[in-house]
Amino acid sequence: MLALAGYPLDIRVRTLDPGEDTPASQVAPAIRAAFDDSGALKTLATDSDVLTFEFENVPVQAALAAARYAPVFPPPAALEAAQDRAAEKALFERVGMAVPPYALVSSLEELDAGLERIGSPAVLKTRRLGYDGKGQTVIRDPGLATAAWQMVGEVPSILEAFVPFDAEVSLVGARGRDGDTSFYPLVENEHRDGILRISRPAEGVPALQARAETYARALMAELDYVGVLAIEFFRTGEDLLGNEFAPRVHNTGHWTIEGAETSQFEQHLRAVTGLALGSSALVGYSAMANLIGRVPSAAAVAAIPGAHLHLYGKAPRPGRKLGHITAQADDRPTLAARWLQVTALLDD
Ligand code: AMP
Repeated sequence: MLALAGYPLDIRVRTLDPGEDTPASQVAPAIRAAFDDSGALKTLATDSDVLTFEFENVPVQAALAAARYAPVFPPPAALEAAQDRAAEKALFERVGMAVPPYALVSSLEELDAGLERIGSPAVLKTRRLGYDGKGQTVIRDPGLATAAWQMVGEVPSILEAFVPFDAEVSLVGARGRDGDTSFYPLVENEHRDGILRISRPAEGVPALQARAETYARALMAELDYVGVLAIEFFRTGEDLLGNEFAPRVHNTGHWTIEGAETSQFEQHLRAVTGLALGSSALVGYSAMANLIGRVPSAAAVAAIPGAHLHLYGKAPRPGRKLGHITAQADDRPTLAARWLQVTALLDD
């Protein structure tokens, strides 16, 4: 999607990915190599004006190595913080963001102590390499601590109070090389089995929007950030608690392709190449559904006015994000009608 957004701006994209037949390789030249293959990194970097990433588990060392040849945005320090839930929480607290009560846990004894302090239910999450609900488990009964500790693989983790949230919301925005910032409206997200299912811009929440943007600006300034960034929050009433951030374009921002004047992908390219940021104003009303495990027929989606199908060219597999559909309309009632038609095409 970054490569597609770059094409009309005369920004040519080349990718490095260890995967075979990646979505990006279908639209842009690809180097197939490990992220930390120094020869491949050098080939990519020496031919490039700027480097970026859209996967937060790229090794920090690879980003630092590539930075010897070309500027890397977002800064590798952002990757480093996003890869470790402990560093992430510390960063959130440093910039004044509220977070759920938590404890660092690296042994069963520390887990027991953490449960005593935080109470249950609580969520045990590995510090590294968790995504889409993987590497985490809810502890409802302190007596089940041993099983939970084994379940996460007995690796350094954090224990977090279970938040009885009203909604999960995310803020997607960008910071340019000149420090200018721009944010999309907060988006409400629904997950199923830990995987993002639906995202739709939240309306009528100016106080929450302002607070989320204040947090995001502080976070971006702290990291001297350049590029698109997403922060996921738990909303309880009028409060926002920081859950995690992603130093990249984000699934909860995919609706911006049709639903905003500048898509998050164009915005990211503008930021990292030093162009002025574009307007993040809404274009009508939108909602997005991820296609997980299977996809409806293109003909069925095309028959719904205002529905836009995006397929990523990935082989179907249960639990895999294969594409998304964005429904868009000029007014709220029309969107509601179109959205019903879209959701009828989903699996469940
Ligand atoms: P994460 O990988 O941290 O985004 O967690 C995946 C999902 O698990 C979140 O989107 C929430 O639905 C749920 N979750 C994670 N942490 C908590 C928490 N502290 N309280 C309640 N639900 C949580």
